[in-house]
Order: sequence, then structure tokens, then C-alpha cells
Amino acid sequence: MTDDIDHADRAVRLLGPERWREAADAYTMGAYGTLAGYEGFKRALTDDRTSAGDGLCYLVLAGVCAQLAGDDAGARNRGLQGVLVATDYRRRVDGVDAAACHEWVGHCRTLADSDGAEEAYDRAAAAYEDADPDDPSTATTRPLLQAGTDLLTQLSRPDDAAWDDIHGDGSNALARRVRFARARLPAFLDAREREGHLHAPRGSTEYGNDSYRCPECGANDINHVADTVLCLRCDVATERV
Ligand SMILES: [Zn+2]
Repeated sequence: MTDDIDHADRAVRLLGPERWREAADAYTMGAYGTLAGYEGFKRALTDDRTSAGDGLCYLVLAGVCAQLAGDDAGARNRGLQGVLVATDYRRRVDGVDAAACHEWVGHCRTLADSDGAEEAYDRAAAAYEDADPDDPSTATTRPLLQAGTDLLTQLSRPDDAAWDDIHGDGSNALARRVRFARARLPAFLDAREREGHLHAPRGSTEYGNDSYRCPECGANDINHVADTVLCLRCDVATERV
């Protein structure tokens, strides 16, 4: 394990051992650091992923970890913080990015179990339609949208919803994306709570790498993520054999 400068990476390493309260705190600090421009300063200067989108993503993940720790008030607070961040950020951006802020309000209200998620998704759908970018698929790589895709893919694990599950063939990507989030996010959140586990995000993965064996479950499928190598199945730090 390297140093713990990156709070969000530290949060990911706490998921396998299921240290939910600490993971919630680490994701929260990752969110605050990202929003302040401090988090992830090991990344390259030009890495535009160090953005409000990642901050919002970490707030939602912090809320999920809080829920797993039995801290429903903490989960709700993270969701409502995210609503305020996204609402405020929307005043400074336009077009597809403004639509993405409505979408984030939908995600955060869903997490917080507060009224208004449906209305936020309606506004997101309408704003994406108004923005009408020439290439909707490419628009999904904008930082505020990419972070939303990252959130949905991580929360969907182990089912591993992929980009095209969320966006279809790309032609109607933005409308589909809102429909997907509205329909599936509540089920993803329920499933994580039922299983009592949030999986690490998928980094670069390898199946059947005989150089590794998971000390918990014995699997040799590995996930290079958060500056370390985790078991792809159960998220604990895997070991070289
Ligand atoms: Zn394992």
C-alpha cells in the first residue's frame, strides 16, 4: 500500500474489509478534497477528471457506505449535500453539463430518500433534449457525465452494468441514460443494502491470473484499482503466490 494522500482510493481499500464507517468518512473526505481541488493531486495536471463530478460521485458512495454502517442520517446528509452541490454548480454551467447537474440531483435525492428525484430526472431529460449535442456518445465522456457513469457501474456490481447497458447503441444515449438511472438506481441501492456490501469500482481486470490468490475466497481474478490489486470477487487485497 502506498501513502494515503488520496482519500477516495483509501475508501476503495476499506470496502473489502467492510469497514463501512471508515469508508464513509474516507469517501466524504475524498468528496470534500475533490470539490476543493485537493483530492487526487497525484494525477496529472491536465487530468480533467478531478472535478465536481467525482466529488458528487464520492458523496453518493459515502452515503451508501454510511447506510451499510447503519447510519441512515449520515446517508441522508451526504445525499442532501450532493443536492446542494449539484444545484449550485448548475448555476455556473450550461447545456449538457447543466442537464447532468439535474441528473445528479436525481441520484442524490434517490440516495437521501427525499422527494423530488422524479422531478429532477424529468428536468435532466428535458435539458439533455434541449442541449441536443451533435454526438451524444462523446458527450457522455464529459467529466460530470463520466462520473455519473462511474457511479452507476460501481453501484451495479457484481452485475457490472457497462456503458452500453446504460446508454444503448449511442444514438439516443442521453435520454436512455436518464431512463436507466431512474429505473435502476433505487434497485442498485436496495441490492447493496440487502447484500451488506459495496463493491470496489472496476479498474483494469484480469481473469485467472495464477500469480495471485485471494486470501479470503481463493479466486485469482484480479482488479487493478486504487493503487493496489484487489480480488475482483470480494474486493480484499489479493496476494502474490
Ligand atoms: Zn476474494
